[in-house]
Amino acid sequence: MLCRARVGINGDICSACERMLPRIQSPCPRCAAQDATHDAPGMSCGACQKNPPAFVATHAAFRYAAPVDKLIQDLKYNRRLELSRVLGIYLTDYLKQQEHILPDMIIPVPLHPTRLRERGYNQALEIARFVGAHFRLPVSATDVQRIRATLPQTELSREQRRKNMHGAFRARRAFTGLRIAIVDDVMTSGHTADALARCLTENGAAEVRVWVLARA
Ligand SMILES: [Zn+2]
Ligand SMILES: [Zn+2]
Repeated sequence: MLCRARVGINGDICSACERMLPRIQSPCPRCAAQDATHDAPGMSCGACQKNPPAFVATHAAFRYAAPVDKLIQDLKYNRRLELSRVLGIYLTDYLKQQEHILPDMIIPVPLHPTRLRERGYNQALEIARFVGAHFRLPVSATDVQRIRATLPQTELSREQRRKNMHGAFRARRAFTGLRIAIVDDVMTSGHTADALARCLTENGAAEVRVWVLARA
């Protein structure tokens, strides 16, 4: 898929390319920021200590860098839906090495209905389907709604981003006592995951963690 070398019938990415995929070194256990735990293993990064997010942990299979960034963009913007299987398997494999206690359910980060209509699918849900099937966990795409069409985060300052996401989600049920994993394709500032996690805990969730394919 990346170098056009011949691979087996079930292969997508050859072993040489696989070794080059961008993994995160010393991730912050809370937000998966790179190089957070060089000096203090197990400690959260400075940003998480200063402003603790509403989620307790983040597992990111990759850094948002070549060639993973291109694969995610192709899935999102070029309608290459078959990539959700490849990427979903990578996320599952990573989680199998990391997670020892599974949550009760998976909630993919919802798109605003307008965005969903434009794109035709939610890439986070497509990835979550594979993860959910593997771990035999329910995946809910309807229990939380995105109620505000937020501005693209890339055009905003740090403080604007936080405000932009506030109140962006609305729960359609209670999550009393449930442990929930949020699934998304990319985590950048973490404000989207934070806003969703806040919405879930305000509606009773006992614990929210984040499973993402790539951390920017
Ligand atoms: Zn290759
Ligand atoms: Zn952190």
